[in-house]
Amino acid sequence: MVLQGLAGSSGVGIGEIVCLRERTLDFSQVKFSGEEAEKARLRQALEVFCQDTQKMAEETQAHVGEKEAEILSGQITMVNDPFMISQMEEGIQAGQTAEAALDAVCRMYAELFAGMEDELMRQRATDVGDIRTRVLSILLGVRPLTISSLPAGSVVAVHDLTPSMTVGIHPENIAAIVTEAGGPTSHSAILARALGIPAVLSVPGLLTQAQDGQTAIVDGNEGTLILSPEKSLLEEYQQKRKAFLEQKALLQIYKDRPTLDADGKAYQLYANIGGPAEAQAALDAGAEGIGLFRTEFLFMDRDSLPTEEEQLVAYQKVSQMMAGKEVIIRTLDIGGDKAIPYLGLEKEENPFLGYRAIRYCLDQREIFKTQLRALLRAGADQRNLKIMLPLVTSVEEVREAKKLLAQCQEELKDQGLPYDSQISLGIMVETPAAALTADLLAKEVDFFSIGTNDLTQYIIAVDRGNGKVSSLYTSFHPAVLQALKGIIEAAKNAHIPVGMCGEAASDTQMIPLLLALGLDEFSVSPSLLLSTRREISRWDSAQAQDLTQRAFQQTSPAAIQELLAQGREKHS
Ligand code: PEP
Ligand code: MG
Repeated sequence: MVLQGLAGSSGVGIGEIVCLRERTLDFSQVKFSGEEAEKARLRQALEVFCQDTQKMAEETQAHVGEKEAEILSGQITMVNDPFMISQMEEGIQAGQTAEAALDAVCRMYAELFAGMEDELMRQRATDVGDIRTRVLSILLGVRPLTISSLPAGSVVAVHDLTPSMTVGIHPENIAAIVTEAGGPTSHSAILARALGIPAVLSVPGLLTQAQDGQTAIVDGNEGTLILSPEKSLLEEYQQKRKAFLEQKALLQIYKDRPTLDADGKAYQLYANIGGPAEAQAALDAGAEGIGLFRTEFLFMDRDSLPTEEEQLVAYQKVSQMMAGKEVIIRTLDIGGDKAIPYLGLEKEENPFLGYRAIRYCLDQREIFKTQLRALLRAGADQRNLKIMLPLVTSVEEVREAKKLLAQCQEELKDQGLPYDSQISLGIMVETPAAALTADLLAKEVDFFSIGTNDLTQYIIAVDRGNGKVSSLYTSFHPAVLQALKGIIEAAKNAHIPVGMCGEAASDTQMIPLLLALGLDEFSVSPSLLLSTRREISRWDSAQAQDLTQRAFQQTSPAAIQELLAQGREKHS
């Protein structure tokens, strides 16, 4: 059976389907089996919970840190609280099942903690919520699945791959990823590309069609998923997979070269990363710097905010690993499709237009200042860090952020802690407001980096993660190209460097256009670094200018892409 989706991450993956279905913890059908039996069920489930959690705490202590392990040990103490247990038993005595009694007591405590003044007490609400989910899963026999423990050769089929789900992922075990939701610039696609895993997205009805254990072929170039293929087709795709890997190997000749166009003009080719672990992949792939460190990943898959010290360690690590090469670190960009449960953000009608990124940070100043302090301190030694603000829409936001940065510098000075007093501050240009006022913003900041993933969705008013409208989502829209031209011109006029860290920077058809418009720096997924370097090397200025001029005369994305495709073919 062949199912068509969208190409999300290139390559061919072959393996066995593992469906990750959202677990419902509905216990409305569970029957009361008598007071003693329900109490025994509850006690047993709590015991299993404690054993599991103890194991997790030990592993966490060994691999993550003591603080994180303490959070888990704290949960064991909580469920062993005699008063809490007696409250649950009272519920059972009143005729509730173990599930209902646990649910009621946990909800009551979660509400109580959530309303407290003290931040630490409020965090306990998250712990109680976690206890509720995990004990309910044990009682109902639906163990939560962890993506980190999947066997080698797994083809993960999932509704959508959230960033936190991928934190523990072992890329070597995942042959491919297929999702029901998400477009090519959704975070699931970006993550798959960063991990070098082939992916197909937005496959309609995926989880009703696919079954655990079924053999699957995932063609991340064509956007196709083939379930239970015939032997001949399987062999054909094994060949394709081999050819893809060979192509990849051929690109290695570009690894230790500078990034030059055919005229010999140099460009910076940087990598996008989500944490220190990916910095190594970036270096291995030949990155000349880091153009986007998405720090929100440091905030995910945990139960509380990372402290200043924890952040310092992560930023310092990347700074040192890159040894003098530039590292652009983006301040916390949450909201939109990036949720962090313990922050307790309300569900919004329009999350992409709502309380996110710089808006959140300027409102939650302590969280923002903690990050700024960590960044300033981390840059003290190598002086290679730069700070970048996401989703800027106005000059006021930049000025406000600068004020907070100056405050942090003052505080660090008073405390006698080393910090980078000259750190550069730049912005992502990824909203129409920023694009249209790029000349004003350019006077306020040290650099620009164009975020075409968001810029495209906001300019065309098309959700970047919605498969239903993905055919409208394209950075080749004349409106987006006009915006790119204006942003780059504004940066040139103000003599500040301008890069691009959106996915368009590694699009082979877009590259000649970006060269002609005058982009200085390309920041791409580590897995696409070498193909980007190769593409840049193929164009000289006259050819790129000529093609670009003609592209700007076209009236539709399709016409522009056709022209660019022809231009590229003629050129090769
Ligand atoms: C962008 O919007 O282009 C970008 C690089 O940031 P993100 O994909 O994290 O929103
Ligand atoms: Mg963005």
